Amino acid sequence: MAIIASNFKTNHTRETTVEFIAKLNDFLTEKKIDNEVYVFPTATSLNSFETLSTLNIGVQNAYPTKNGSFTGEIGTEQLDEFNIKTILIGHSERRHVLGESQEEITKKFNFYKDLNYKIVYCIGEPLEVKEQGIEQTLEYLYEQFVGIDVNYENLILAYEPVWAIGTGVTATNDDIKAVHSVIKEKIDKPLLYGGSVKVNNVKEICSLDGVDGALIGTASWNIDDFKQIIENT
Ligand code: 13P
Repeated sequence: MAIIASNFKTNHTRETTVEFIAKLNDFLTEKKIDNEVYVFPTATSLNSFETLSTLNIGVQNAYPTKNGSFTGEIGTEQLDEFNIKTILIGHSERRHVLGESQEEITKKFNFYKDLNYKIVYCIGEPLEVKEQGIEQTLEYLYEQFVGIDVNYENLILAYEPVWAIGTGVTATNDDIKAVHSVIKEKIDKPLLYGGSVKVNNVKEICSLDGVDGALIGTASWNIDDFKQIIENT
């Protein structure tokens, strides 16, 4: 059994998301897939999707609040409307493009942990850190666990090297194993790999020691490709 997650990022409309989920539901029902499947659509496309036990819908981001004056953000009052109980936290685009600090990420983690959300927590190093070697890479990754309760029961981790995200450059099996083996030894939680996972490499990546599944962007946005990814794994 693998965990396969699709992160839509800022893609798909409400209409195409509903269509995507409907097709995915049909596929999961028909094929009796054993894998645990997640989809993180845009917040504007959230819907009271009819979900199956094998399909989990999560939100890509939310503010650590129930409601209040946080212009542009959403809180749990809005998520509750859609029965959302799963959230992605610490994604590299939130860290590096949107400028979220580790302090903010930790605060968000603790807020959603206290509400018992399932958290997919992302870590990853930029290219200049990778180029310094594995010791520096691990040290950088450890910093991303500061204040994070790694024993939290509803936690899934995702290792997404920043240099492999949306670039078409997948980490090599050795790159993935080097990080996954150390993190898995320290933390007893499912650990996904993310970064240019595609139809033709997902099976191999997911079969590596210490890899429990994949968090996928680009290659998952087309429903036929995503179905193939789920089926291939
Ligand atoms: P890509 O699959 O497009 O590299 O994106 C990975 C990712 O960021 C998933 O969260």
